[in-house]
Amino acid sequence: MSYLKGLKCRECGREYPKEALHVCEFCFGPLEVIYDYEGIGRVFTREVVEKRAPNMWRYRELLPLDGEPSVGEQVGFTPLIRAKNLEKALGVKELYLKNDAVNHPTLSFKDRVVSVAISRAREMGFEVVACASTGNLANSVAANASACGMESFIFIPFDLEQTKVLGTIIYGAKVVGIKGTYDEVNRLCSEIAGKYGWAFVNINIRPYYAEGSKAFGFEIAEQLGWRLPHHVVVPMAGGSLITKVWKAFREFHNLGLVNSLPTRIHGAQAGGCAPIVTAVKEGSELIKPVRPSTIAKSLAIGNPADGYYAAKTIRESNGWAEDVTDAEIIEAMKLLAETEGIFAETAGGVTLGVTKKLIEQGRIPRDESIVVSITGNGLKTQEALYGKLPEPVIINARLSEFDELVGSEKGRYALKA
Ligand SMILES: *Cc1c(COP(=O)(O)O)cnc(C)c1O
Ligand SMILES: [Zn+2]
Repeated sequence: MSYLKGLKCRECGREYPKEALHVCEFCFGPLEVIYDYEGIGRVFTREVVEKRAPNMWRYRELLPLDGEPSVGEQVGFTPLIRAKNLEKALGVKELYLKNDAVNHPTLSFKDRVVSVAISRAREMGFEVVACASTGNLANSVAANASACGMESFIFIPFDLEQTKVLGTIIYGAKVVGIKGTYDEVNRLCSEIAGKYGWAFVNINIRPYYAEGSKAFGFEIAEQLGWRLPHHVVVPMAGGSLITKVWKAFREFHNLGLVNSLPTRIHGAQAGGCAPIVTAVKEGSELIKPVRPSTIAKSLAIGNPADGYYAAKTIRESNGWAEDVTDAEIIEAMKLLAETEGIFAETAGGVTLGVTKKLIEQGRIPRDESIVVSITGNGLKTQEALYGKLPEPVIINARLSEFDELVGSEKGRYALKA
């Protein structure tokens, strides 16, 4: 049973059939998926959800497919971790990490959007999937396309982290590196999508793709015991995830699955690419594009497609936005690893670094519940740490050398680092 009704323009409200459309013909506003909420309300309860398998399809009524997913059946339901050590380090009372660094199969939150997008693309009859990516989307489209026997074309800025490039090619995807920024890649892909008729997951089937991010929010609510936190901090690239976490919370609230909606949504970007943060701080509706320069390459979108709506989400929920320097990103990556044993990618450093700032500024009160969104895995962005961590101490395989090492001041220091 499908509750996917169609598409609707976010600006003028005009409705469209549930096809591969993404902009309004009349006002060029972005299209958004609409559901039969009344029908959903009759069948979708806490009890029904709790009986289902631990993956994001337990919320299937609120995801935009006509039938069952044809790829990514195991995606989602990643851990929500009570971070006691980090609470102590930051001086707060109740802090959780939503850890999509261990999402299946490519270790980032993008597996959520991609399993929805590819499943929907297949329902609509596409044979080739493609994307414009800052890295994680490339990994996920390539992996999931292979898993369901589809051909994939991946377009990336040529200077991405090596691990993200290798972690795309390994799946047999056709990878094209573009000499330019993500925004230039994206513009080219819009042209290719029109000409070749492929399903570009984040361009011509973006309305369906983006809905997959809601599952990140649904899981936070369920894993907190059907309750919403006071604060969620979300990293922003194109600005879609943050709008969908907010949408997920509102949907659960409207359906009566949670009793109250106390959440403030805060946005995080790197200082070297912070167009949404700048707009929020200036109280401006206009997102001024920037040319990115940051180690947080997964977030390096200078002209964010959903920037306007991301800023609106932050305003509507009474949240705030902040950015951090590259040095602060690395410091926060280390803090997370050292306190909670989680190695997140640069985007995780951005999110935690911004959380720390918002706490220090008093924007996040120390006695309220906080969820920090960890969206990608550190093993994929190791280059950012080259030369920034101590080297291992190297000795010969002799007990006396080890004795000497721990016995000396230098040795103790080296082993402690
Ligand atoms: C893509 C991405 C984001 C942000 O996604 P948007 O929806 O484009 O804002 C956050 N974190 C990581 C690791 C990503 O790869
Ligand atoms: Zn319109």
